[in-house]
Amino acid sequence: MFPTFLLPADFPLTACTISLVGESLRIKASSSQSSSICPACGCASDRRHSKYIRTLVDLPTSGYDVKVLILSGKYFCDNAQCSRKIFTERFKQEISPYYRRFNRCKELLGNFALELGGNKGAAISRLVRLRVSPSTILRIIKGRHLSIPNVTSGIIGIDDWAFKKGNTYGTIIVDLHQNKVIDLLADRESETICQWLKEHQEVEVISRESWWPLFKRGPGRCSAGHSGS
Ligand SMILES: [Zn+2]
Repeated sequence: MFPTFLLPADFPLTACTISLVGESLRIKASSSQSSSICPACGCASDRRHSKYIRTLVDLPTSGYDVKVLILSGKYFCDNAQCSRKIFTERFKQEISPYYRRFNRCKELLGNFALELGGNKGAAISRLVRLRVSPSTILRIIKGRHLSIPNVTSGIIGIDDWAFKKGNTYGTIIVDLHQNKVIDLLADRESETICQWLKEHQEVEVISRESWWPLFKRGPGRCSAGHSGS
């Protein structure tokens, strides 16, 4: 019996097998969806055109890297107004179109990047058998939506963050109460940080570096003591 806990919960799969190929676990599965949504017009279609195998990388398991081969469908779009006649099957969760990894891999790699920067994040990815290049790490982090409009705790830390060490730096903003990253800024200019602070008036306490004492934000002004480059 296939250990279904290996794959993301509630993922629509049937008839799974698992085998060891070299140092990789190969999981074969097929989609159990009987219809899909056209990405161009949003109409549902259950008229299948053909099947194809989609290969995705998943999180490593027991020291093995994991590849999942999913037998998926291509569907006709019967909406006469739609520009797409045939489209590949879409899934509601865990798989983004045109992406070669499950979303939970992207989430983990994004966390590596936020904590370590591009080059170190790529180095750690090799150690955990989820090998990606520094440029892939950067693409992931640039595409990440840090959608937290308000900082609920009002206590933040600001520090430099290396998109590419020795080359490109941005600014990372951490909610120190929730202990999580809430935004990445494209550069480390004081003006950029001040603009961010103007948009987050709920912030009351800012720590410029982890070893700096917390200090109060002054009324009506930006007090980020940013050392810049
Ligand atoms: Zn369509």
